Amino acid sequence: VKHSRVPLIAGNWKMNLDHLQAIATVQKLAWTLKDANHDFDAKGAEVAVFPPFTDLRSVQTLVSADKLDVVYGAQDVSEHDSGAYTGEISGAFLKALECTYVIIGHSERRTLHGETDEQLARKVAAAIRHGLVPVLCVGETAEDLEQHGPSAVPVAQLRAALEGLSGSPEIVVAYEPVWAIGSGQAATPEQAEQVAVKLRETLAELFGQETADATRILYGGSVKANNIASLMREPNVDGALVGGASLDVAEFASIARFQ
Ligand code: PGA
Repeated sequence: VKHSRVPLIAGNWKMNLDHLQAIATVQKLAWTLKDANHDFDAKGAEVAVFPPFTDLRSVQTLVSADKLDVVYGAQDVSEHDSGAYTGEISGAFLKALECTYVIIGHSERRTLHGETDEQLARKVAAAIRHGLVPVLCVGETAEDLEQHGPSAVPVAQLRAALEGLSGSPEIVVAYEPVWAIGSGQAATPEQAEQVAVKLRETLAELFGQETADATRILYGGSVKANNIASLMREPNVDGALVGGASLDVAEFASIARFQ
């Protein structure tokens, strides 16, 4: 039983699609999902896209004008609220664009931009302060996997990013093994479930069982239309964070239907 968790299928566009392409893509996605839900048995997943910052205003305008059944968020957020931080984007700005979510700690930010667990904890706090739901990414490298097993690093990253929070924070956790991202080699459903269970146990330790049961844990890393169904059958996998395959509307819509 997946409790009452609504599945979340999230598309991380990374640095792809400008604002004009974003408008065309989101429009087509919303139509495809609508058609599909008409023809097929809708599974009722929430569908979210994470475009580049410069697309967000266009996406907001489209989604609100046409009342599209798609939500959206940013791929990163500043730990600061405003001020002399050249190049940074505040959570307040994202909230003003009606973002629901923000991705925090994607492995590309950890690796290419040197983001640390301490900094990510501050970003999680900033997101929550501005009423955004953090999609916190955790995951081990192939080397970590060999040295420490599958769940030690993701669990440690989860703890480090969340330990300053209290109460029942609304967050989404994305388990993304670094070796599976963009590699075409997804984790097996069993591997994803095994780590998701450990992550949920850690959430229960930090915030209590009720919050842990309400928190969605996504799997990410080479998710495609041909492997989503088996991943979604796992009781602790509540959705997916999709990179490459989210740029293809037909494929992403199939993923959103778990088929
Ligand atoms: P991928 O990326 O689906 O292209 O493997 C996933 C991610 O980086 O979020």
